[in-house]
Amino acid sequence: MKKVLAFDVDQTLNVAKMPIPDEIAELLVKCLNHYEVCPISGQKYEQFLIQIVDRLVETGATPEQLCHLHLFVAQGTQYYRYNLDKKEWDQVYNYPLTDEQVAKISEAIEKAAKELGYWEEDKLADGDEIIENRLSQVTFSALGQKAGTEAKYAWDPDCKKREAIVKRCKELAPEFEYEIGGTTSINAITPGMNKVFGMTHLMEELKVEKPEILYFGDMTQPGGNDYPVVQMGIETITVRSHEDTAYALRGILGVTE
Ligand SMILES: [Mg+2]
Repeated sequence: MKKVLAFDVDQTLNVAKMPIPDEIAELLVKCLNHYEVCPISGQKYEQFLIQIVDRLVETGATPEQLCHLHLFVAQGTQYYRYNLDKKEWDQVYNYPLTDEQVAKISEAIEKAAKELGYWEEDKLADGDEIIENRLSQVTFSALGQKAGTEAKYAWDPDCKKREAIVKRCKELAPEFEYEIGGTTSINAITPGMNKVFGMTHLMEELKVEKPEILYFGDMTQPGGNDYPVVQMGIETITVRSHEDTAYALRGILGVTE
């Protein structure tokens, strides 16, 4: 019997970087009545609020329902839980990178992207940045955070550019791990600080075992940022988009409700 539904965010619950669509919001609110719902992604806490939490509240999620939502931010290296008394989100734990690690990773990614001709600074919106310190990971977003969805999809649909950058980064700073995610992103982390870390802490915090979890992700192929979850033996549904996720959730809720 599944107790936990865990979700990758970008491309699994939404169109990359966008708030979750109405249909997903409605389905997730229903899921909160039956399951612990755990989004886990490389995004920052603020993005989780904009993309998921605000949308669920708009869709009618009550504070009691929000107690069944668990935010595993920055691949689960930070965990936030709803505090019913204070009506706000508490940070339960946080495992940040050191300043030195952040500097080393940033340098390697910039050098690799520049060497390969994939450093597209001229395409950035004002005030946007290609490399972002997300505290527990450093994230490369080829066109920045604010680029349009279409441009992002078109940039590296077969992941070849990012695979080349990752290959070079592994030579420049081999002590870190690099994962391809979203549409233009590479996440750099310290070894072991990937979704395995997040899912392991999820099991500890929620006191559940692997067979009680069902995970949804779009990057479940080797090298993708959902692959570590598959490798650790958690039952996984591979989706191409939030439409696939909605389809699967309707099936699951049809059985439960
Ligand atoms: Mg994804």
